[in-house]
Parts: sequence; C-alpha cells; structure tokens
Amino acid sequence: MTDLTAPANIAVNIDILSDNFHRSKNISVSMLRLDKIHPVLSGNKIFKLFFFLEEAKHSTHKKIITFGGAYSNHLAATAFACKISEIKCIGIIRGEKPEKLSHTLEYCIQNGMQTEFIKRSDYKKVNDYSFTENLKKKYGDHTLIPEGGFSEKGVMGAAMIGNYYGQEQYSHVCCPIGTATTFAGLIQINKNNKVIGFSVLKNLIDIGERLQYLNISPTSQYEVNHEYHFGGYAKENEELFSFMNSFYEENKISLDFVYTAKMMFGVYDLVKNNYFPPGSNILCIHTGGLQGNKSLASEKLKF
Ligand SMILES: *Cc1c(COP(=O)(O)O)cnc(C)c1O
Repeated sequence: MTDLTAPANIAVNIDILSDNFHRSKNISVSMLRLDKIHPVLSGNKIFKLFFFLEEAKHSTHKKIITFGGAYSNHLAATAFACKISEIKCIGIIRGEKPEKLSHTLEYCIQNGMQTEFIKRSDYKKVNDYSFTENLKKKYGDHTLIPEGGFSEKGVMGAAMIGNYYGQEQYSHVCCPIGTATTFAGLIQINKNNKVIGFSVLKNLIDIGERLQYLNISPTSQYEVNHEYHFGGYAKENEELFSFMNSFYEENKISLDFVYTAKMMFGVYDLVKNNYFPPGSNILCIHTGGLQGNKSLASEKLKF
C-alpha cells in the first residue's frame, strides 16, 4: 500500500485539459492531480503536513495540536494523517461548539481527533506565547502545527510539490492562495517559469509580510492575482457553480468551490483576456480540498 505520509512515494499524474478555445489561442492548460492522492489527505495538505508528521512520529509524545475553522480542509487532513500514523491529534476549533457539527468536524472526530472549541475572540490569540504555553500545560509536550501549516516547515513540505512535474515544460504554474504557504513553497522551487497565486481571500494585503515571515527567497517570478475571490473566503455564486459543472463535463475533474474552482475560473478568464502569450504552457496545481464541497446543497453540483 502507498504510504500516504511519505509524499515521495506517491505517483501523481498530469492531465492536459481539453479546450478548443485555448487551443485556438495556442495555449495549453494542464492540471497536476494532487487531488487524486486521497479524498481528504491530498492536495497540498499532505505536503504541508509532511515535516510535522515526521517530527511527531519520531518524538516520544506522538501528539499533534493544530487549529482551524468548522470547514477546514487542514483539520480534516491532519485528523486522517494522525490516525494512520498513530499520532494523537487535538484540534482547536474556531468558534463555540454548534448544535450540529459540520461534515468536516464530524469527519475529524470520526478519525480520532479530540476537539476543543474556543470563542472567536480567544481564537485570535492562538499564536500568542501565553496561549501556546497554556496548551503545553494542558496537553503536555506536542508538535504544534499553525493554522493551515503556515510556517517554514509547511513551506519545505509544499516545495516538494515541485518534484512532480518537469519545470522546463511549463511557462506558468498556478495555485490558489489561502495562507500562502503553498505559494511560498512553489516560488522557492520553480526557476524559469512564473508562479501565479490566486487569492481566495478578499483582503490579502500582506503577502509581502507573509513571505518575509516564511523566510522566502523566491527563485521564480511570481504574481498574486486578487480578481477571482468571488467576494471572499468560501463565498460562492451561481456563476462559479456553473463553471465547476461545465469544467467537470469537459474534463471529468471535480473542483472544490473554495480554492481550485476560483483558480481555474481565473485561469480561464485570463486566457480569454489574452493575459498569457501564445505558446504558453500552463500548469495548474489541483490542491485537493474536495471534502469541502460536502457543505454545499447537493443540487448545486453535478458531480
Ligand atoms: C488549504 C487549501 C489551500 C490553501 O493553501 P495555502 O497553502 O494555505 O495557501 C488551497 N487549496 C486547497 C484545496 C486547500 O484545501
């Protein structure tokens, strides 16, 4: 069986997307199918978690604590990764415990995550020294993963995504941006191509500070696109769903509505607006996250 906690052993394919319009512009768009690794422990998460899992596996405490909201792909992936690695997992959840848990949190609990719900006002302080000291007192020694893996270790893991495609083949590499950890890893590993990150947040105004905090020395050209967040994090509309459905019809590839659908909508729109020069060979990273679609009403998507 493939060891899901060792990304180096995982085979990943690249699909060329079929689109006559792109072809007529002499542009090729491909997709790195990190979503196919596993339904939940997939996409960028398996990479961002890698070095944290290694640390916890080789520790005596064998315990991970991390953070997230009720729909967090990061929490779901961490819960599953800890389960198969036999690591105890504690999730600090943003917001008071609701009457009905989200699909994501149900999944986390089913996979052995112990949860602690904290008020939104307190959640803002989770990175403070006093908060992390309290975690140590309460739960003992552990490996702490910042929300979304936003850290140098997370970047190192994300940079391993670069081993899954031939850099020289692509003029542009695209990914969605949440915390920007994945984007940071990609701009550190790509050289001759340009990395475009599509922000899914409405106000991603501190990308410079983020990259500085992550201690990045970019080796590629890069650009952050702010035009396709659809109103902000996890916001959606019929235009987005309709794009996801037709994308699925054409390519038989499911996108998630929070991240990858917005990136692909953006890429297609940029092709239409002649952003990419003819001859461009674009690689889009499917960062997974498909479990998030389960929070949508079932009639929205045809897949
Ligand atoms: C978490 C997630 C992202 C965001 O990645 P960052 O490294 O936080 O920018 C992108 N796509 C999917 C599908 C995700 O689940």
